[in-house]
Amino acid sequence: MSTRISPDESAIAVNCRSLRNFSVSQKALAAPTVKLWIDGKEVESKTKEWIDLTNPATNEVIGRIPKATQEEMHRAADSCAKAYEDLKKYSPLSRQQWMFNLQHLIKRDIKKIAANITEEQGKTLPDAEGDVSRGLQVVEHACSVPSLMLGETLPNVSRDMDTLSYRVPLGVTAGICPFNFPAMIPLWMFPMAVATGNTMLLKPSEQDPGATMMLVKLAQEAGFPDGTVNVIHGQHDAVNFICDNPHIRAISFVGADTAGRHIYQRGAQHGKRVQSNMGAKNHGVIMPDCNKEQTINQLVAAGFGAAGQRCMALTTAILVGEAKNWLPEIAEKAKNLKVNAGTKPDTDIGPLISKGAKQRVIDLIATAKKEGATVPLDGTNVTVPGYESGNFIGATILAGVKPNMTCYKEEIFGPVLCVMFAEDINEAIHIINSNPYGNGTAIFTNDGVLARKFTNEIEAGQIGINVPIPVPLPMFSFTGNKASFHGDLNFYGKAGVQFYTQWKTVTQFWNSSKYVDSKPQTAFPQIK
Ligand code: NAD
Repeated sequence: MSTRISPDESAIAVNCRSLRNFSVSQKALAAPTVKLWIDGKEVESKTKEWIDLTNPATNEVIGRIPKATQEEMHRAADSCAKAYEDLKKYSPLSRQQWMFNLQHLIKRDIKKIAANITEEQGKTLPDAEGDVSRGLQVVEHACSVPSLMLGETLPNVSRDMDTLSYRVPLGVTAGICPFNFPAMIPLWMFPMAVATGNTMLLKPSEQDPGATMMLVKLAQEAGFPDGTVNVIHGQHDAVNFICDNPHIRAISFVGADTAGRHIYQRGAQHGKRVQSNMGAKNHGVIMPDCNKEQTINQLVAAGFGAAGQRCMALTTAILVGEAKNWLPEIAEKAKNLKVNAGTKPDTDIGPLISKGAKQRVIDLIATAKKEGATVPLDGTNVTVPGYESGNFIGATILAGVKPNMTCYKEEIFGPVLCVMFAEDINEAIHIINSNPYGNGTAIFTNDGVLARKFTNEIEAGQIGINVPIPVPLPMFSFTGNKASFHGDLNFYGKAGVQFYTQWKTVTQFWNSSKYVDSKPQTAFPQIK
């Protein structure tokens, strides 16, 4: 986590610390402030509580993020409620046009957004562009909203009577985002919410809000009316505000387990619909008959890409039978990955998001050693010339990992691959199904019968066959399950449309004959 000090605390720090710290604190105070976004305008917060925004490659303070005041949060939610009334006059076809425009504008600005992501989040520039592109695909999916929202009709359910069922928006919705995909996750949320006729109050991660701010400005340029998407910043108070605010009808959350379970419960207590995508432990099963070279490349890329800070990272490899002998080759490939700042060309592994995240990963590796894992590759002592203060860890492999070890029970969220061994496919399936998480899994094999057995018996919600990170495109839904998801309706795809809408069913009777009942019929009508 980044160092979090309010301006008042900084002032104390200025008085008490050494000259070097003095200049750091002054620098922090001089850093530009991140604004709120309310009613189509940037708003400077009047808060006294600020969070430092740091560059993970250097740990320099590059901005200050306000913890929005209660008054500001109410203003943002009220603005969403007012905008919702206004939004009712726009047809799905108008909203579709906004999505077409947004798609074009995101493509125009993709490099700028990616550069911001690399600065605030740390991932490499090509990976940051991928972050935006995967979100862009949801905008493209949202362009089909008139078809996606089609209802159902059954004419003549009785004499002169028809029934029509159609989807209507919920009203004000909210989105709470994690740090690891600063563009993709907000884009999972607000385009689908607005395309289906809702407004949205967004709370980006307090660790990298820049991409969200750029996206909502593009939304305004695309034609979204003012107040359709508002942005507040903060931590627990902002989250609890969203859970409790009576305007808000539904909450989309993506992040770690503690917050996700809390938001699911607190939101539901207030009668809100909640979809909560949480933590993960994704296993790749390596069968000895697979295409070895291709599989090792895929495994190393999916385990260490984005410094392991992906909810679908392949963090645990299960080497089955003879495949256990491939460990040295896996370690060799992983050792060659280049650790450097995300802005540098050819970087494979950028920094972790914060000093706290780095320390947590180092501690988990140390605990794994104590608990009996071997470490064929240890990246904890990596130094990056020119970026000595960054939050870097090199590719690390923990081998002989057992289900009772802390490194297996916890989501590491760093460039660390846990390696387990299994005698056969049944043992591998047993290990995976015994794990509480169910985000994703993959099998690498050339045996179709075995792959079918795996897909039939495995419980995880997203399965790859020779595909290491099987995140479905947005015409499908993101279907993590078990402890990785709370809720009934997943993000994007058909379920995404259902999440942001509710059914309205109309039964209509237009009497075409002169016949009128002679007296009231008190019994339920019967089908004859
Ligand atoms: P996080 O839970 O720390 O933060 C997510 C959001 O919740 C932030 O906006 C934060 O301000 C807020 N928050 C954090 N702690 C809170 C608390 N105790 N109470 C209320 N609100 C709180 O998550 P993160 O570290 O930003 O993101 C990484 C996590 O997100 C990982 O666990 C990863 O697996 C998960 N993730 C899941 C998916 C998925 O689709 N399943 C996708 C991306 C990330």
